[in-house]
Amino acid sequence: MSKRDYYEVLGLSQDASKQDIKKAYRKLARQYHPDVSEEENAQEKFKEVKEAYETLSDDQKRAQYDQFGHDGPNMGGGFGGAEDFGGFSDIFDMFFGGGGRRRDPNAPRRGNDLQYSMVLDFEEAVFGKSTDIEIPQEEECETCDGSGAKPGTSPETCPHCQGAGQINQEQNTPFGRVVNRRVCHHCQGSGKIIKDKCDTCGGNGRVTKTKTIHVDIPAGIDEGQQIRIPGKGEAGVNGGPAGDLYVVIQVKRHEFYEREGDHIFCEVPLTFAQAALGDEIEVPTLHGKVKLKIPAGTQTGKTFRLKDKGVPNVHGRGHGDQHVKIRVVTPKNLTDRQKELLREFNEISGHESAEEQHGGFFERMKRAFKGE
Ligand SMILES: [Zn+2]
Ligand SMILES: [Zn+2]
Repeated sequence: MSKRDYYEVLGLSQDASKQDIKKAYRKLARQYHPDVSEEENAQEKFKEVKEAYETLSDDQKRAQYDQFGHDGPNMGGGFGGAEDFGGFSDIFDMFFGGGGRRRDPNAPRRGNDLQYSMVLDFEEAVFGKSTDIEIPQEEECETCDGSGAKPGTSPETCPHCQGAGQINQEQNTPFGRVVNRRVCHHCQGSGKIIKDKCDTCGGNGRVTKTKTIHVDIPAGIDEGQQIRIPGKGEAGVNGGPAGDLYVVIQVKRHEFYEREGDHIFCEVPLTFAQAALGDEIEVPTLHGKVKLKIPAGTQTGKTFRLKDKGVPNVHGRGHGDQHVKIRVVTPKNLTDRQKELLREFNEISGHESAEEQHGGFFERMKRAFKGE
């Protein structure tokens, strides 16, 4: 029987790294594992892949193979017995979430992180806020110190799993023994059996309590940012540390201001006369009213910058600015007197002055209509 080249089997070149080899093997093992694969000859292919992997993943064997190929000393052939398919638990882990070495149910575990969503008014985000929040949290039962057993009694080691919380089930298959691991039903994976349950927590060792937690929201916080409060998440298990609490910020929109980072944007309407003649107006800012001088001949869309009137930087790096955009409002519902004055204004200014102001715009428009 002529054997395929091991590199070819794994779909790799001779200079493949160890990582490449492992990756290729995992992929192919998943594809051809006889318990999973429905492909024809999966069994043989799997065997081929495994053999290639066992040689190429071992530096010494690989060097030998690179030099002598399949004919080298100690090469190939030795896959007669079912025992050679040992190491199935590696593959088992790989299929079912992996990494799952036997976990000690009594080992200290860190509590879960919690997330709390907080909605702030626009100004609250700008200036910060000190507040208390209430969150329901699981924590260790005080009555039984988390053991779940009535005070004076203690939990017993589960006799079915000897405290491991899991039961290994061996199964013989044509490819060797497969070790199946499942959670022990008698103790639900805790490794312990509680005969006299604690009245307070009903035996699970944990109770849900509403906790009040103080939160300081720094000035300048923005939508989507979060505040981490260490140790205020869920309590740990078996004496493990508590998780963290994350307060995620949402900010309500403002009817006048728009915010972009530390800068504030707003739009201010001006009458035609104010824009043409100039004026001094008062503009609201987050830090109170500010006087703004409008020069004569201000056009719509012109933006003025009010320095440092924006949002304080959340990291304490100064303030943003407020940008004020001018919108000139065309008057509506004119009285007869107003109309008369505007007509007179139009007559004495004529198109000449508009022409000058707009840099030949009307002249260009006229040419466009004539198709020039
Ligand atoms: Zn058990
Ligand atoms: Zn209890």
